[in-house]
Amino acid sequence: MTSEFREQLYIGGAWVPPDSSERIEVENPYTEQVIGHVPAGTAEDVNLAVSAARQAFDGWSALPITERGAALDRLHQALAARAAEIACTVGLELGTPLKIAQAVQAGLPLTVLRGYADLALRQAEEQTIGNSLIVREAAGVVGAITPWNYPLHQVVAKVGAALAAGCTVVLKPSELTPLVAYLLADAADEAGLPPGVLNLVTGTGQAVGAAIAGHPDIDMISFTGSTATGRAITHAAADRIAKVSLELGGKSANVILDDADLVKAVKVGVGNAFLNSGQTCTAWTRMLVHRSHYDEAVTLAAKTAAGYTVGDPFDPATRLGPLVSATQRERVRGFIERATARLVAGGLDAPVPDTGHFVAPTVFADVDPESELAQEEIFGPVLSIIPFDTDDEAVAIANNSKYGLAGGVWGGAEHALAVARRIRTGAVDVNGGAFNPLAPFGGYKQSGVGRELGTFGLEEFQQVKAIQR
Ligand code: NAD
Repeated sequence: MTSEFREQLYIGGAWVPPDSSERIEVENPYTEQVIGHVPAGTAEDVNLAVSAARQAFDGWSALPITERGAALDRLHQALAARAAEIACTVGLELGTPLKIAQAVQAGLPLTVLRGYADLALRQAEEQTIGNSLIVREAAGVVGAITPWNYPLHQVVAKVGAALAAGCTVVLKPSELTPLVAYLLADAADEAGLPPGVLNLVTGTGQAVGAAIAGHPDIDMISFTGSTATGRAITHAAADRIAKVSLELGGKSANVILDDADLVKAVKVGVGNAFLNSGQTCTAWTRMLVHRSHYDEAVTLAAKTAAGYTVGDPFDPATRLGPLVSATQRERVRGFIERATARLVAGGLDAPVPDTGHFVAPTVFADVDPESELAQEEIFGPVLSIIPFDTDDEAVAIANNSKYGLAGGVWGGAEHALAVARRIRTGAVDVNGGAFNPLAPFGGYKQSGVGRELGTFGLEEFQQVKAIQR
């Protein structure tokens, strides 16, 4: 597959022409060539999609869970049959190196959808509290708005949960990476989801996103993206008190204690910070190192970063692809340019390919915890290393952030666990504990509201009703 030009929207179980003839071009961030386009949807398209979702809601939410589970199972099968195409599409529209795209951009959403197909069948049983019967019901019509960095995973984390809970969905993917969402709509069509259960409207945030956020007939908005947009969506939904769930930015700390396995902690830490060219909300972009290991950690991190192969996402040797857009590259370069800390790897003058939106893997040492480098989400391959002397100081630096999404702690098992408990974030990995797609995912503070994935993610799309008898 080398290009993808989509002319229609998926509404009410059919491919329909958009309201406007305007298109949004999709660029390959490695070749800087246009590889496709999608409709620039309008508020009128959103109206149609919401009314299709509303019409479908009563039937879908009332289906016996075995039938909803079977429909999700068919959706998973249809999507799994497209795994190679998904990885390739994300490699083309986002620039994720193919091997990583296969595992994370295709493999992860398939695992998550499989989990929701299973969970649809195992939803919490009704509960009795005194004279009350407690029942869970679908939250209603959901508007799902997603970003570009894990463009199918972020969609499936919402859509899978919403559909399993009995909600119907109007989906707006990022205008930078809209192509892979079409593969989900293709799969939904092939799987025979009832008309209107899943609707796809592509377009900009200003046109389609804002129309979804403010739509009076959408019961819940599930948003993943920047904290600034999360704030705008919350304001728009506040007028009608619509439920909002938000997965936002991060500035996570990787705390390397005095009794840590230093080599492993630094190697895994650098890999985590640079995954997907650093365009990862959970990236451990602050490496906090006990003073006794500090110099060695800085040398190791610089060496690890310098060893990254930067280049063509479709070359099997490539570890780091381009950033998604010229705008994103310039934004990241701005952070590097303004930084006053000690540059130990990469930087603006490090060699990168001539075409493509590249930033070299970059490491700064002696970073002031109050500085822009340590406080702002850069969303590029930039790691900040900060020394500390005591556990209390490490915890204070880790928690000195407006965000609270993820993190890591390395050290003796009990020691690291004790420190992990003190970090105010939605997730912490101790000694490289593996990502668990069934565990709740979400943020404290300005990293978000609510949780995705697993049972917690499904319950986000339900209302709880008490019936007194
Ligand atoms: P973004 O906020 O610019 O855009 C996200 C989505 O919102 C896009 O679909 C966009 O079109 C839409 N949008 C923009 N303005 C809107 C408006 N006014 N109303 C409604 N919708 C609007 O974010 P991005 O640049 O695409 O993604 C990067 C950000 O996403 C980073 O901050 C990153 O940390 C965050 N992110 C968070 C998570 C998480 O789960 N916590 C996961 C991935 C990314």
